[in-house]
Amino acid sequence: VVKYVALETKIVRHWQSGGTDCHGQLPEKAISDGQGNPCRHCLREIPQGAPMLILAHRPFHHLHPYAEAGPVFVCGRLCLRSDGTTQPDILTTSPEYLIKGYSEDERIVYGTGAVVPAKAIAAASEEIFSDARVAWIHVRSARNNCYQLRIDR
Ligand SMILES: [Zn+2]
Repeated sequence: VVKYVALETKIVRHWQSGGTDCHGQLPEKAISDGQGNPCRHCLREIPQGAPMLILAHRPFHHLHPYAEAGPVFVCGRLCLRSDGTTQPDILTTSPEYLIKGYSEDERIVYGTGAVVPAKAIAAASEEIFSDARVAWIHVRSARNNCYQLRIDR
């Protein structure tokens, strides 16, 4: 069984209340067109017409060569963090996703990265977790490389 881990509420509230992103810049304010605007906190598509924030996020605890930063969307309004017990809406909108395992020290575990069909994410993650070196998995969009969420055991 895998867990789908959304961004923590603390950092999302920071952005939603006007805080800066990992580049020290204010999030851009936009209105969702309702297509392909996944919120990394509630793990749902941001509805058409709803306010959203576009900002840079680095989903790592430390700075090092593997600590990629990139664009993410979150709801502009306060939303509830997904409990992550089932595969969330935002991992159903594309046909496939990029997944890869990371070690406890936040390095890519080479050989684990794969582009997999949306329906196969859970099974492919279980397979990656059979490698004891893997501490967690990052899910990114297969076409644009945008960070979606983390998967834990
Ligand atoms: Zn949201």
